Amino acid sequence: SHDQVPDEYYVPDSASALPDTLLSRRANATLLMLARNADVDNAVRSVRRLEDRFNKKFGYPWVFLNEEPFSDEFKTRVSNVINGEVTFGLVPREHWYQPDWIDEDRAKAGREKMVADNIIYGGSVSYRNMCRFNSGFFYRHPLLEQYKWYWRVEPDVHFHCDIDFDPFLFMEDHNKTYAFTITMYEFRATIPTLWDGVKEFVRAHPEYIARDNAMGYMSDDGGNSYNLCHFWSNFEIANMEFWRGEAYSKFFEFLDRKGGFYYERWGDAPVHSIAAALFQSKEQIHFFDEIGYEHNPYTHCPKGEGAWARGRCGCDPKRSFDYDGYSCMRQWDRIWD
Ligand code: GDP
Ligand code: MN
Repeated sequence: SHDQVPDEYYVPDSASALPDTLLSRRANATLLMLARNADVDNAVRSVRRLEDRFNKKFGYPWVFLNEEPFSDEFKTRVSNVINGEVTFGLVPREHWYQPDWIDEDRAKAGREKMVADNIIYGGSVSYRNMCRFNSGFFYRHPLLEQYKWYWRVEPDVHFHCDIDFDPFLFMEDHNKTYAFTITMYEFRATIPTLWDGVKEFVRAHPEYIARDNAMGYMSDDGGNSYNLCHFWSNFEIANMEFWRGEAYSKFFEFLDRKGGFYYERWGDAPVHSIAAALFQSKEQIHFFDEIGYEHNPYTHCPKGEGAWARGRCGCDPKRSFDYDGYSCMRQWDRIWD
């Protein structure tokens, strides 16, 4: 559905000058960015934009993760644009690198085929490490263990509107688990056997499938085949208890054992999306129309009544991705009819 965030979640402008009245109620949440040292310029841009449009009012802590130690430059420059608390963490080796039980000859052959087929990041091992980490490990990092909610932020993303409401509290109060701003098709060549794995898992574990799930968004034939629709995971606001729970933990472990993160190039976006859509009610997935968001090359710009003006959005609603030919919003909408 496209429900608007109710007024009670908005904080009046005057509150931003009064830090002690600001945070009467807070979620157990963090803003999260995975980045390399070389991403520092773009990391600073994203942080600055989200601080300006949202977090200067709310003061949620930031966590930055990297499989290499962050440089002093990265830490200094990023801290300089953050008002509140910030922590820099190291990803444990065993959460990042290609496991020994992966057959490297087979993985290499898979990469070479994708390079020949011109698949984006087809030849990259580090991109595969990142996708696997974001699928099954980030929420187990010691720095994230204390938190329930995270908002995933990537380098060089844009926030086009004021976000004067607390999306975490909105989600908590409305029993939402996963929120998105953009939905689109995955490249089939990156996940040729993923859906077979999903079907195998579902046959083995029918008890994890929610009654009122969002299968109709992901499949046009009742679950036999995948239509490639997924939530674009470079933006995510979600409850980590879902990823930490039994259904998703078993699902990730099952998929990981198939080796598809390395033999193919399974993305965290389809993996998260499929789980969110199957293991819980569709009502628990939320589309945040109010959050104007851009990750190259796509923008979501609020079209909802009043949202664009209220948010002082700088984006052009006519160029919103929502009903672009490559968007999956139509598949999202049809399950609400
Ligand atoms: P794209 O959005 O799919 O084109 O992929 P990105 O290059 O934006 O990577 C997705 C996220 O993972 C971003 O937050 C990157 O900063 C991060 N990332 C990608 N590769 C690496 C890596 O090798 N190391 C680290 N530390 N972060 C990475
Ligand atoms: Mn990106």
